[in-house]
Amino acid sequence: MFCKFIHKRFSTLSLAVVGSGPGAIFTAKHLMKKHTNIVVDFYEKFPHPFGLIRTGVAPDHQDVKNIEHEFSHILSLPQTKFFGNVIVNKDTPLNLEILKKNYSAVLLAYGAHGDITLGIKNEDCKGCFNSRNFVNWYNSSFDRISNDKIILNKTEDCVIIGNGNVAIDIARMLSKSFEDLKQFDVGDDVLEIICNNTIKNIHMVARRGVNQAAFTTKEIRELHGVKGLNTYIFEDEIKNSFEADSELQVLPNERRQLKRKVDLVKSFDMINNINQIKKDGRKNLFLRFLNRPKEIISDNTGTISEIIFNKTKLIKGQAVATEETTSIKCGLLFKSIGYKSHSIFDTVDFNSKSSVIINDKGKVSENKVISDNLFVSGWVKTGAKGVLDTTLREAVDTADTINKQIEGGFLKNKTPNYDEINSLIAKSGVKPISFKDWEKVSNYEIEEGKKKGKIRDKVTDINKVFELIKH
Ligand code: FAD
Ligand code: NAP
Repeated sequence: MFCKFIHKRFSTLSLAVVGSGPGAIFTAKHLMKKHTNIVVDFYEKFPHPFGLIRTGVAPDHQDVKNIEHEFSHILSLPQTKFFGNVIVNKDTPLNLEILKKNYSAVLLAYGAHGDITLGIKNEDCKGCFNSRNFVNWYNSSFDRISNDKIILNKTEDCVIIGNGNVAIDIARMLSKSFEDLKQFDVGDDVLEIICNNTIKNIHMVARRGVNQAAFTTKEIRELHGVKGLNTYIFEDEIKNSFEADSELQVLPNERRQLKRKVDLVKSFDMINNINQIKKDGRKNLFLRFLNRPKEIISDNTGTISEIIFNKTKLIKGQAVATEETTSIKCGLLFKSIGYKSHSIFDTVDFNSKSSVIINDKGKVSENKVISDNLFVSGWVKTGAKGVLDTTLREAVDTADTINKQIEGGFLKNKTPNYDEINSLIAKSGVKPISFKDWEKVSNYEIEEGKKKGKIRDKVTDINKVFELIKH
């Protein structure tokens, strides 16, 4: 369907995309289905494409990561170009003004790469991690904290705040054994540290009740099924998770699905206190509800030693803190309370409260004026919520909006001036990485992985990336 000659002869409509994750690629794909003549260039801050598929999705979810094959097809098309290792923001020589000058339209799809904070005392003391930091680390992202900061062998108790699917990923990664993980794309260094963790008890703590749990049924079932893991719930927390009108708070078409999830959780071992757990040497997961973090206590080395929680009660599905407190002693904390996006261009209207670019079906406004040629997709459009299917749906919505702009004649044909673009990239002092370049690295990773019986052995050093590209 996508022919080389189309690119050469009619490459007049053009789209610059900031980012190369699912939001970017799904949108481009759906746009190109209708407009085969459009040139699409992706500008990506990392050397590699695919965003959170590589650095977010857990290594043992290779079925999800497999979407890289479909994405690779898009980036191999003659009418697309990938500029890896090229960050774009208001301070880079290659900025929004330049992109708008060179392309018919610009799509912002740079995701959500910031952390939400709890806003409580000591939340950044030693032993406390944001989920993003920990996930980036176990996925060997180029943006990761060093191994010496990840100390998982000094405590038997860790707390995960939040019970979304990222929290579930973290709990699973901490629960699985070397045998469970060795075949995936987990770095040897990560495997060594994560599989030698001394954690016995994982306390996953949510501020609301079981009806409001953010995890999905499939993910909690998978965690429940991890070999060597006991899963517990507390009787009073389950009992207090329901209000008189709990059922009415849920949309009728979602009630059955929710009931399935709640019934699954209720099938976990029910206890009244921690002394009732089995003494079978397995790890324990405690799914806790109705506890809101109040304060973090650190010891004399500045390391987390305890978290104090306010017990909450539900009012219309929301957690209201009570005076009653409880605490969990622990040496590690993972704050898994969501990712957030940020503004990278001052002129683009951004809602700092919801951390999204203000948009109408993907159409963006600049200085409160709706722009004809500026669009948004992915998590910077929707907030850091939703699985790939959600991101796909939203991408189709944005692609439809761009299509309407094309069909309405609102986008001018423009052929990018690559001399100007390349000289501005060079001015930033970086070397861009093409998709062909990245494929060399990716193929090397796969080959190295094979030698070790793994899916891939990720390259984590940017110098190694450039060394491989040279050949
Ligand atoms: P991203 O994937 O983050 O892509 C944004 C891209 O923009 C990145 O490549 C980034 O480097 C780049 N970028 C950022 N700033 C700039 C800049 N200034 N200049 C140039 N480039 C820039 N969904 C599932 O269906 N199944 C799963 O198992 C699953 N696991 C997940 C695990 C985690 C830990 C997380 C956080 C999410 C997971 N998701 C999963 C959700 C899925 O990853 C998202 O729906 C999807 O990645 C969102 O796509 P995006 O393009 O908006 O963002
Ligand atoms: P999430 O699903 O939004 O969950 C965030 C959790 O943090 C919720 O339990 C939330 O509780 C809690 N929280 C937020 N602020 C808090 C605060 N101040 N104090 C205490 N708790 C707080 O976010 P996520 O887990 O980061 O996941 C992001 C998206 O990626 C989700 O849509 C998820 O499904 C998707 N994802 C999917 C997969 C998969 O499909 N396998 C894997 C990973 C991620 P409240 O509900 O009370 O706000």
